[in-house]
Amino acid sequence: MKDFTLKIYEAMILSAKSKGYQFQTFEDFISKPLDGKLMVLRHDVDRIPINALKMAQIEAKAGVKASYFFRIVSSVWDEEIISAVADLGHEVAYHYEDMTICNGDFEKAIVHFEKHLAALRRFYPSKTICMHGSPMSKWDNRKIWEKYNYRDYGIIAEPYFDVDYGKTFYITDTGRSWDNSEFNVRDRVDSKFDITIKSTEHIISKFEDGSMPQIVMINTHPHRWFDPSFGWYRELIMQNLKNTVKRLIVKNQ
Ligand SMILES: [Zn+2]
Repeated sequence: MKDFTLKIYEAMILSAKSKGYQFQTFEDFISKPLDGKLMVLRHDVDRIPINALKMAQIEAKAGVKASYFFRIVSSVWDEEIISAVADLGHEVAYHYEDMTICNGDFEKAIVHFEKHLAALRRFYPSKTICMHGSPMSKWDNRKIWEKYNYRDYGIIAEPYFDVDYGKTFYITDTGRSWDNSEFNVRDRVDSKFDITIKSTEHIISKFEDGSMPQIVMINTHPHRWFDPSFGWYRELIMQNLKNTVKRLIVKNQ
């Protein structure tokens, strides 16, 4: 099967589900983790937000919940898409990069953070955040927390600070290959697992043969996942959305 397609993504979810993995949003995983096999699907929406909506629909169809971290740059900030993802039952939260945007000015960055966290919370009562890696920037966006505390803003967790990667097996699709740490400027965790993932099919085979660890966090960037009929599909989704909105307007008149 071709890798990094929505089709194989769906197959991966269904395989984990059939092997007894329970899916939790990042927020629920932190605040009320379930016993047994657990899977957290974390998405960093860096570009092409329509792809995030496609993944969100696939997950909703499979009956699982995921966490979507949206950047607030104009190429990603699409309120129709953000609210549609939240409406599908997923967690929606802030993929912050305030230090980069404010050029390392702590005071400006925290004001910027607060403002955009509030903007995101119009769609979902976000209690988690996740930094954007900003590979081209000299600023590490996590630096803001050397001076401020996100808990003062009602945030309970940030994946780079609040997850025990000795217990949680972390897999990321950076560079459109799994676990390719040479491409990861900042998205690295201190993993205790000595497992190299070669492909999505490899992930599926590990679910199937029972060699996947009990707790897994999979981080994907939806813009890296394609559908062969992208243009057509996008139109269909947007049209359905518009029709839903239209129906609501008609109903409320
Ligand atoms: Zn990012």
